Amino acid sequence: GEIVSDAQIKAAVDKAYAATKGITAGKDADYIPALAEVPPDLFGIAVVTVDGRIYTVGDTDHPFAIESASKPFAASWVIEQKGEQWVEDTIGVNQTGLPFNSIIALESHAQATPAMNPLVNAGAIAIVSWIEPAEPKARWQTIQQLMNDYAGRALDVDLTVYRSEAGSSEHNRAISHLLKGYGTLNGDPEVALDLYTRQCSIHVTAQDLATMGATLANGGTHPITGKKIVSPAAAEKTLAIMSTTGLYETSGTWTWNVGLPAKSGVGGGIVAVAPGRFAIATFAPPLDAAGNSVKGQKAIELIVHDLIGSGMFDTGR
Ligand code: GLU
Repeated sequence: GEIVSDAQIKAAVDKAYAATKGITAGKDADYIPALAEVPPDLFGIAVVTVDGRIYTVGDTDHPFAIESASKPFAASWVIEQKGEQWVEDTIGVNQTGLPFNSIIALESHAQATPAMNPLVNAGAIAIVSWIEPAEPKARWQTIQQLMNDYAGRALDVDLTVYRSEAGSSEHNRAISHLLKGYGTLNGDPEVALDLYTRQCSIHVTAQDLATMGATLANGGTHPITGKKIVSPAAAEKTLAIMSTTGLYETSGTWTWNVGLPAKSGVGGGIVAVAPGRFAIATFAPPLDAAGNSVKGQKAIELIVHDLIGSGMFDTGR
């Protein structure tokens, strides 16, 4: 049966687009110089259902840097290959309540219960270090193939963003070496940092990101190509971590307002997943103070309330 009708999706997406298009609040990320150059008025919304239907409005074929929205997908590989318990014990699955690049989160990693997770920089750099094979070129191929499989097409790296970020990554370099010191990072910390930076620089469109999210909504199997990328159990754990920590330190506000597992990136993308139903992705570069797209958050909230009422916590109201 239909998860939601085409007419329902179109009406909800068009309405949310019209209602949020005029929002001018927020500011492009500028700590990565290339991101500050992205036109702030670009705006697109894409919905992809678990049965492969696609609805888009606005700038949904404009490529942007995936940034932190890549982190759940990389994490899913390690959850699948190393197991849930390993990820819980080695990387951690708790919210930090701190900014995404906090060093404090990493310090607490020395404690019995790791207070970091695969969606903050420290955890994400650690995740990349455990992807196999260990040899850097082959490891990059695994990452690239994984992201391509999730999107269902070959994605490019934005070399301008990559070079810009690689040239201003002192903070992430410090995190990488500290992780090595704590024994949490596998292999050479410079290699993990470089592959992490490349992963963040992958170019996606809002339609790609919605398709990637729809694959998680569909239990790890791509809704259009039919390829099984991760197991339903790994997809479920990936969504679990997105629901507690996907929108930086305002993840609680997000779950309160929207109630769907999601992940944002400083490139202006957000992907939100309605398990078993569909995913929504938005692209709108201006960010709030936590690093979340202002327009994207509002648009997704409106669509979710239109299509499924109370979000993930369906009480039958
Ligand atoms: N590549 C960015 C960084 O490491 C990702 C930040 C983000 O999107 O949260 O700073």
